[in-house]
Amino acid sequence: MFWDETHETLPRPDLERLQLQRLQETVRRVFARVPFYQRKFNDLGLTPEAIRSLADLRRLPFTTNADLRANYPAGLLAVPYDQTLRLHTSSGTTGKPKALFFSRQDVNNAAELCARAFIATGVRAGDVFQNMMTYGMFTGALVTHYGAEKVGCLVIPAGPGNSERQVMLMRDFGSTVIHLTPSYALYLATFLEKHGVEPRRDLQLRKAFVGAEPYTEETRRKIEEGLGLDVYNSYGLSEMNGPGVAFECEQKQGMHLWEDHFLVEILDPETDEPVPEGQSGELVLTTLCREAMPLLRYRTRDVTALITAPCACGRTHRRLHRITGRADDMLILRGVNIYPQQIERVLMAQPGIGRNYLIELTGLDEMTVKVELAEAGFGGQVEQLIALQKKLAEKLRAEILCKPTVQLVPPGDLPVSEGKAKRVVDRRQL
Ligand code: ADP
Ligand code: ZN
Repeated sequence: MFWDETHETLPRPDLERLQLQRLQETVRRVFARVPFYQRKFNDLGLTPEAIRSLADLRRLPFTTNADLRANYPAGLLAVPYDQTLRLHTSSGTTGKPKALFFSRQDVNNAAELCARAFIATGVRAGDVFQNMMTYGMFTGALVTHYGAEKVGCLVIPAGPGNSERQVMLMRDFGSTVIHLTPSYALYLATFLEKHGVEPRRDLQLRKAFVGAEPYTEETRRKIEEGLGLDVYNSYGLSEMNGPGVAFECEQKQGMHLWEDHFLVEILDPETDEPVPEGQSGELVLTTLCREAMPLLRYRTRDVTALITAPCACGRTHRRLHRITGRADDMLILRGVNIYPQQIERVLMAQPGIGRNYLIELTGLDEMTVKVELAEAGFGGQVEQLIALQKKLAEKLRAEILCKPTVQLVPPGDLPVSEGKAKRVVDRRQL
């Protein structure tokens, strides 16, 4: 079943024709209305007429995170202020936030793309959708909220945290679908276990949309086991509407990126050249339908690869591999490049290990990985714990090429996050 079958299954040539038409329109719009882009076009000696094919995309200027901040609050608006309908900001942790405006059409499109995604995962009218993302200025909760209403779900705007209340809502209203971050999902699994709630027996959960931060296949499996449901990877960013940019279908083999709304490039971040097909690089996105705040070639800093093979579900939009992290997440330890996801993969695959961890960088260049033991494993023999610690350190060395100190801590010892988790604490004196 599809939400918008015509668009979701467009044959590639038709899809590309539509993309070109929308790209040209977007370019004309920003050239006419956004001084920031006018300046960039002039510097490049470019006019909108120069964009004659999709390949000409590469002649367009990039837009960066810094450009968004520099143009805060309303410098990138492409419609009069009184035609904007909604404001979101990104959850950016440093400096000024990024302000993202939506027109009426943008609000509607964002919800449409979420509706497509939800139907693709098998959600239907009548499902009960408990939205455990943060409401407020973030896109995460509100955008999916309207998408689920479009589909015809009963939407429970629970917000994150207060797990006791979450479970009460699940029981009382028969929630079938939840939307949350991977770190909170892991915590919730532990919470259920602790309180003797057996999700398959006591709850009606069927599906979870899990996103907003990177996680591994091993974590997906852990969440699926712990919550007794199917996990679908959900990718989005405020700059591109928020959630619903790319989403897994029932195949759970990569996330369909809605290519009639976004043009995708995967670039080598060093050279800015496209990577060979299927290889990973930085995801760069151009909006094709955004009215209030179109963005050209936005550098997401997210690292992923494109899956071009057709999908069994029949959707023709290409898929993104699981995001392995942000280029900014990369740690350099004694000259070796490490992504926190590499560490997570090892930890989450290890029997006896719980669901929370923290990476601490200290001293000159030392790494300590603190990880909680599984509820059942705790209380084991000291020799067993030492052996487990040794085994993990070895496995980590094989994965990240340097050997961290591993500290096993009791379940519940590490800080819990309800939103995006902070997995790395850097206290190095470099
Ligand atoms: P901020 O940019 O301040 O974190 P956003 O809420 O816009 O605020 O977050 C978008 C970012 O979250 C993405 O650029 C990406 O790094 C991360 N993200 C979102 N969904 C996923 C996902 N499914 N997998 C990995 N990372 C994700
Ligand atoms: Zn599919």
